[in-house]
Amino acid sequence: MTTGKNRRVVETHWRGVEMPAVLETRCTGCGWCVEVCPTQCLAMEAHLPSLPRPLDCVSCTLCALICPANAIEMRVV
Ligand code: SF4
Ligand code: SF4
Repeated sequence: MTTGKNRRVVETHWRGVEMPAVLETRCTGCGWCVEVCPTQCLAMEAHLPSLPRPLDCVSCTLCALICPANAIEMRVV
């Protein structure tokens, strides 16, 4: 979609967003990522973090930054 003087506006749902992906072989199950998440979209499930509410993720990267095992990668989805 374009508006005004050829300025292109990208619809929000077309943008790639980054979400956390857990590297299961590195994760120790400490739960720090779940504790630090400001929107509570992460949860522990069978000793591994999962993302049961992905729409609440704001891609802040705090979970990846706090992980002592470097077990979270932010990936574009
Ligand atoms: S990137 Fe931020 S909002 Fe998304 S799961 Fe990690 S801590 Fe939560
Ligand atoms: S902070 Fe890292 S090691 Fe701890 S539960 Fe989360 S992903 Fe696993």
